[in-house]
Order: sequence, then structure tokens, then C-alpha cells
Amino acid sequence: MAIETIAVIGTGLMGRGIAYAAALSGFRTVLHDVSAEALDRALSHIRKDLDEGLGRGKVTAEQAKDALRRLEPEQELGGATDAADFVIEAVPEDISLKMRVFQRLDERCEEQIVLATNTSALSVTEIAAAARRPERVVGMHFFNPVPKMKLVEIVRALETSPATVDTTVEVARRLGKETVVVKESPGFLTSRVNALIGNEAFLMLQEGIATAEDIDKALKLGLNHPMGPFELVDLVGLDTRLAVLEFLHRSLGEKYKPAPLLVQHVKAGRLGRKVGRGVYDYRGHD
Ligand code: NAD
Repeated sequence: MAIETIAVIGTGLMGRGIAYAAALSGFRTVLHDVSAEALDRALSHIRKDLDEGLGRGKVTAEQAKDALRRLEPEQELGGATDAADFVIEAVPEDISLKMRVFQRLDERCEEQIVLATNTSALSVTEIAAAARRPERVVGMHFFNPVPKMKLVEIVRALETSPATVDTTVEVARRLGKETVVVKESPGFLTSRVNALIGNEAFLMLQEGIATAEDIDKALKLGLNHPMGPFELVDLVGLDTRLAVLEFLHRSLGEKYKPAPLLVQHVKAGRLGRKVGRGVYDYRGHD
């Protein structure tokens, strides 16, 4: 079936980025959120992002105008699901909430419609179990900020059909993204590798092998990473990183045991940029 309309369910940080990419790529884009305020905020962020794109010459005035015309805020879930040819869910990372949302989406969407979740770590198989169409449920893991990040990790759950994977790869391609398809597993591909790199960096810092600045410098200049592991964890949040490592440790074993120095930073409240201090001190700089 031809996919012309994408419904984005949950228009916070990720949902609004996905809606931006969808509208700019030519999809009619219906945005749904339980909060009217979140919908308004999403629309004003998208307008701002389009203006910035215009300013930097990435978007033409006509593309920006067309994208805005394609965006439809919708506070009623039914309004969004009636219009949708493809659904991308981006509500908060809570398994019972996601299962409730998928049950409702499943009840309302026509049965051939693919339902994708942007979960970063939850089991897509478990989310799919809430729907009567688990073969048409798939993970579609976008990265923040969506307009800038090229990758979408497509997660094949236990029951996801090959046709669903193909449709999702095609939608991602039309959104201007590159894809990798991964079999469902804790941390998928990117979070698993990234958690280990970040943990190893903390272990090395703890062992006094090098300073945080030099570990960051080595990974940037020697391995061509765009950011050092400590710059990155300060941005992501040390508490978020610790939660991911604890989850991987529980599900995949000892290799993922969080470095004691990371645990200590979290206990000290050094959670990263959001509180002004993580591995580095941002107080007085931002
Ligand atoms: P967020 O809190 O910024 O946004 C979530 C939105 O969902 C809010 O606007 C909220 O009002 C809305 N919402 C809550 N319940 C709803 C419901 N029942 N129906 C419709 N809308 C509802 O969260 P976020 O950071 O955008 O994360 C969303 C998802 O994306 C999570 O699963 C998260 O793990 C995943 N993710 C986040 C990032 C990131 O960097 N933040 C990266 C990749 C994936």
C-alpha cells in the first residue's frame, strides 16, 4: 500500500523531531499527544527548526512552507489513527504505557497498518504482544536530534514479518535516513556498543590510565569519534547511562557491570550538563 500519511504518537523531544523529518520529506504528518501544551510546543519547535534550516541554507522557503502545510495537530487519538498509513509511537519509555498505547492503536488502525515504536531499550516483542497484529509491529529507533542524525535502527521483534521490515526500511529511506536492521536484543546495536565504550572510559579513568580530557581527545583525534565518551555521557546524563548499563548487566552478564566510578558520580549527583556538573564542570560556562 502507498504510504502518504504518518501519524506520530507522542510529540515530545523525539516525536517532534520525527514529525519534522516526515513533513519535510513530503508525508502528510498527523501529530497526536495527550497534552495540548505538548502539541503546541512541538509545532513551535518545528517552526523554529525550519527557520534555522532556512537560515543555514538547508531548507528552501518553499520546502519550509510545504512542510508546515503538511503538519496536522490532533488531540484525539482516533483522528490520528483514522488518517494514518503508518504509525510511529514516541511516548515516554514505560512498558505499561507503551502496551496500553499499542492496544489502542491496534484497535483503531486498519489491520494492514504498520505500528512502529521508537523505544530506546524496551522489548519490542513485549510491546507487540499488546496488539493483535504482532507481525506488523516493529522497532524504529531514531536518534536525537532527529533532523541531524542519519541513522534509524530497525528492530525486528520475534513476530515481526519480513514485509513489515521492508516497509519500515522504505519509510526510513523516504525520511532521508540510513538504516540497519537488528534482531531484538537488549540495547539493540548502538546502545550496547556505546554503553561498553563509555563504561571502559570510566574504568580507565578510575585506574588512572589517563585524564578524562586525554581519553576524550584520544577517541576524537585517534579514533575519529565526533565526541569523547565523557563529553557524550555528560550530554546523555550519567543516571541514564547507569540505568542502561544496569539493564544490560542484568540481561547480558558481567561484561556490562557498571564502573564503580560511574556509580559514584551518580551518587554524588554529578549527572551531567543538565545539573551543571558531570565528569566535567559546566557551572559558570553555559
Ligand atoms: P518526551 O517525554 O520528551 O515526550 C513524550 C511525549 O509523549 C510527551 O509530550 C507526552 O505528553 C506524550 N504522551 C504521554 N503519554 C501519551 C499517550 N498515552 N498518548 C500520546 N502521547 C503521550 O520523551 P522523548 O525523549 O521524546 O522519548 C520518547 C521515546 O523515544 C521514548 O521511548 C524514549 O526512550 C525514546 N528515545 C528517546 C531518545 C532521547 O534522546 N530522548 C532517543 C531515542 C529514543
